[in-house]
Amino acid sequence: MENKTTEQWMELTQKVVANTYARYPVVFTRGKGVRLFDNDGREYLDFFAGIATVSLGHCHAGVTAAMKKQVATLVHTSNLYHIPEQSELARRLVEMSFGDRAFFCNSGGEANEAAIKLARKWAKSQGRGHEIITAHDSFHGRTLATVAATGQLKYQKGFEPMPEGFPKMPYGDLDAARAAISQRTAAVMVEPIQAEGGVHVPPAGYLKGLRKLCSEKGCLLIFDEVQTGMGRTGKMFAYEHEDAPPDIMTLAKALGNGMPIGCMIATEKVMSAFEPGNHASTFGGNPLACAAANAVLDVMTSAGFLDGVAERGEYLGRQLKKLASEIPGAKEVRGRGMLWGIEIEGEAAPYVKKALENGLLIGVAGPNVLRFAPPLVATRGDIRKMIEIMRRYVLE
Ligand code: PLP
Repeated sequence: MENKTTEQWMELTQKVVANTYARYPVVFTRGKGVRLFDNDGREYLDFFAGIATVSLGHCHAGVTAAMKKQVATLVHTSNLYHIPEQSELARRLVEMSFGDRAFFCNSGGEANEAAIKLARKWAKSQGRGHEIITAHDSFHGRTLATVAATGQLKYQKGFEPMPEGFPKMPYGDLDAARAAISQRTAAVMVEPIQAEGGVHVPPAGYLKGLRKLCSEKGCLLIFDEVQTGMGRTGKMFAYEHEDAPPDIMTLAKALGNGMPIGCMIATEKVMSAFEPGNHASTFGGNPLACAAANAVLDVMTSAGFLDGVAERGEYLGRQLKKLASEIPGAKEVRGRGMLWGIEIEGEAAPYVKKALENGLLIGVAGPNVLRFAPPLVATRGDIRKMIEIMRRYVLE
């Protein structure tokens, strides 16, 4: 690939890449840990991690070595055959979670699509209806079914008619959930913390309450842990904070530290509704993606890793609260672990742009929330540096 200037790359993107993203005017060409470097060699502090994905930092040595080894050995065979790296990854994921079996795909949206299909298939076998109740302000992906499941109309606009069967309920409200569940309900699907929709942390007891409710009513509970899973909240899976195991859980983002991989985990009782031929993915769980994910697990299951995330996550939350107390327009700071949002008065996007201009990557969550989702390996020093940039250049 020939070298081009930043302007030339941006021009090329605008000419030949589908116009589905409003991209910031920057071209990243290299990453190391919590740092990114653009085409002109300028350094940035990354507190968004490729949308909460590169949790071990850019080009993590262990993951890179595992991928290099695998890429020189075997990249893809398909699920017509057994894949040792996939079987091993499934064993490790089910041993560390509530689940008994894992299905692999390539993204969060696909993992949720698999969860929706499994829930419907299971419900049919039980004589229940096919509805999957989801929450207002939720985000579950961009396939047609996951857009229908998503509780934000802006993602559905222009693509109607939506697949039916996704009634909505208010998030964090157990009485509303109780009223919504009926014999038509196959499952209730929520994010343990709503990330894209504004970093909404539900009231304590909500996840456990949903668990109890779904068990009583005989429907399934699905946790979309695409963003909250793999240590993001200081536990491997966010449901562990309330000891509220779901029947189905979806993962993606941090599972491959940037290598595309998605996963849907379920109990034996539920997963047994799937039979050969019911669901598939050509690339899902291929040797390369699974080698990356196994290397990610090596790090995340090492002694003290998650405790460190939880400890630095609390520090991050404290620092953000202090920062927000100095901003007249700041309304609330919400989050857990390494996933935080500051709700502000007015639009968040201009602040994200300003941060970028000053060498810091952060994100938005909904129109008026600044989102912070750094690599889980960000140090206290990185956090202080981020706060300094925010204070001096972004929120001044
Ligand atoms: N579910 C949640 C909770 C997410 O945050 C996202 C992406 O941001 C998705 C699903 C969709 O994942 P993907 O973009 O990998 O399809």
